[in-house]
This record gives sequence, structure tokens and C-alpha cells, in this order.
Amino acid sequence: MRLLVVEDDPDLNRQLTTALTDAGYVVDRAFDGEEGHHLGDTEPYDAVILDIGLPKMDGISVLESWRRNGRSMPVLMLTARDRWSDKVQGFDAGADDYVAKPFHLEEVLARLRALLRRAVGHAKSEFECGPVRLDSRTGRVTVSGNPVKLTSHEYRLLAYLMHHNGRVVSRTELVEHLYDQDFDRDSNTIEVFVGRIRKKLGVDIIQTVRGLGYMLAAPG
Ligand code: CA
Repeated sequence: MRLLVVEDDPDLNRQLTTALTDAGYVVDRAFDGEEGHHLGDTEPYDAVILDIGLPKMDGISVLESWRRNGRSMPVLMLTARDRWSDKVQGFDAGADDYVAKPFHLEEVLARLRALLRRAVGHAKSEFECGPVRLDSRTGRVTVSGNPVKLTSHEYRLLAYLMHHNGRVVSRTELVEHLYDQDFDRDSNTIEVFVGRIRKKLGVDIIQTVRGLGYMLAAPG
């Protein structure tokens, strides 16, 4: 994980950089807005810690420019205590979170971890198997780019298999994870749903593993 720290206070910059490096991150540093802006605009960072009060170019302008240029990395802003307007402006400019000065390094590290986690979760919201794509944020399923309409039960089943692509998922597991306790566990409903999904997708990505359950596999 590669991070950028943009902070003009040399002591604070060093403290942050040291703590982040100790925590196992790769850290680049900048001491003014222009330098920070240039780095964030050209280098692929997993997250940025950005001070709002910076020489040459203020943090809000830096952030606005990044977002305008399509730079979408998570940004944790550092704000002066009691400057609520900084926070409002910062969020409006595209910040993901903030820490007010003076702060505990532990809090910065914890907030950063949360941002990075969310960023990975976000990146994983689309699943793919062969020509089938499932977007877990929008609930959209497509085959070779063409949208397919699934019922909510069918969608949940396919989404579960997509999340666990690469292993066999038993019928019991599907029932436990997809349905409430009133569901008739002895019924063959799962098989019926699988049959419908296969038909709707028009491609067979759900393989039946006899006696064990189901597994996704790209056709061919
Ligand atoms: Ca500052």
C-alpha cells in the first residue's frame, strides 16, 4: 500500500511518515500544496493524508483539482480544531474522512485502515465469471454486456456463488446464507433456482458437483 502525506509542518510530516512507515506502508511526502498536488495527480496512491492549510496551494483546491481530474483515491484530510467550515468544504471537495488537529497517531492509522478497507470493498463490487458480470452495488447482471433480469432469490444465489467463486458451495450453505429459517430446507428449491438462472443466463457457469453442491466455472 502506497500513501502520500501532504503536510507543511516538518515535525508533523515526519511523525506521520514515521508512524505510517512503521505500520508497513510505503510513504511519499510533500510539504506544500503544489508539490502534493503534482504527486497525487501523477502517482498511483492507495490513500492520501492531506492537510487543509498548506502554502502555495491550499488543501481544498488540491483535492478539488484531483477529483476534477478523475483521481479517486481515498483522502483523509487534516483540519484545524474548531474549523467546522474546513470540514464542510473538505467533504464537499471530495474528502473521505478527516482528523482534527491535534490528533493521536493511532486515530489517523485506524481511520486510514478503514478507508483502505472500504476502497478494496468498493473495488471488489464487480464480479465476473466467463461472460457473466455481476455488480453487487447496483444489482446488475449482464451476459456479454446484455442485461439479464433475475428475481431477488435468483440474484442472491448467483451473487453468493460469485462471492465464493473457486470453491464448491453446498446446498446447505446456500440455504443457510440466503434464506431465513422458515425456508424448507428439504425442498429442491435451490435446484429449481439454479435451473432458472442457467436458463436466463444462457450460458452454463454453474456446475453441479454431484453429492457436494455447486461451483462456478467459466464455460470452455
Ligand atoms: Ca498546515
